[in-house]
Formats: sequence, C-alpha cells, structure tokens
Amino acid sequence: MNSSTCIFCSIVRGDIPASVVYEDEQVLAFLDIDPIQKGHVLVIPKLHVTNLLDVPEALYGPLFRAAQRVARAQKKGLGADGVNLLQNNGSAAGQVIDHVHLHLIPRYEGDGLHWSWQSDGYESRAESQETADKIKKVIDEWIAYR
Ligand code: AMP
Ligand code: ZN
Repeated sequence: MNSSTCIFCSIVRGDIPASVVYEDEQVLAFLDIDPIQKGHVLVIPKLHVTNLLDVPEALYGPLFRAAQRVARAQKKGLGADGVNLLQNNGSAAGQVIDHVHLHLIPRYEGDGLHWSWQSDGYESRAESQETADKIKKVIDEWIAYR
C-alpha cells in the first residue's frame, strides 16, 4: 500500500469524506467509521507512514499532542470517564489499515467493554530477566551507535 492507494491518505487529500475533529499542519483526527464506542477517534499523521516503527521522531510530539487534545475533548465534550489509547502495528497485531493511527476510545464507568487479554506469565525471575535482556540489548546497541 502506498499513498495513492491508501484510504487514510485519501481522507487527508479530501477525496473521501471523514468527520474531522482536529487538524493541524502535520496531523488529522477523525471519527472511526466503525466505532467501538460513539466518539471513537483515529489520530493520524498526514504523512503516509506504515506504522509506529517507521514514524519519524519529529512526528511523535505532534501526534501525541493531538491525542492529548482529543482525549481531553472526549472527556469534556462527550462526558467520558476515561479514554483508551490503542495502536496496532502489523497484521499480527490487528493492523488493517497500513497508515499509522492512534485509536482514542471514550470509556464510561460500567460500559461493559472488556479486552480479552490472557496472561502469559513468566516461569521464573530468570525467564523475565532473559526476555528483558533480549529487548534491552538491541536498544543499547542502537544508542551506542548513534
Ligand atoms: P486497525 O485495525 O488498527 O488498522 O484499524 C483500522 C480502523 O480504521 C478500523 O477501526 C476501521 O473502522 C477504521 N476505518 C476504516 N476505514 C475508515 C474510513 N473510511 N473512515 C474512518 N475510519 C475508517
Ligand atoms: Zn496513507
């Protein structure tokens, strides 16, 4: 998928309609067409970037500033008691649209929404440390080579 075939790029260009709730130079936020709750918003960069792993660092500030504004507005404007921020990267993680997006879902006390997380706990302290080390080692190498 590239920017000419991407549905979210079409929304950015104004080629297909969307219910926009926020826009600035780099970011657009609009209602999800198939909401988990009414007022479910998607925040995207206007730049076509596949997922979180490819987002240029300079866009993180604008994206999360927009997400904060939307979340505050969902509380004040819709009376939400809380907000979930969800973000899927890759088909294995449930990503369907290959243009990075943050889901902001308004939540209400007792709204009955549940994520079906199942715990996959560690056998031992050693196993959790080994897992942490596999991640940390890669990050430490990146930092060292900067
Ligand atoms: P994901 O599974 O994280 O890739 O989520 C993609 C989201 O995009 C889904 O929640 C869809 O309902 C939403 N979506 C797909 N097409 C549109 C559209 N034209 N306007 C608004 N939201 C859309
Ligand atoms: Zn796109």
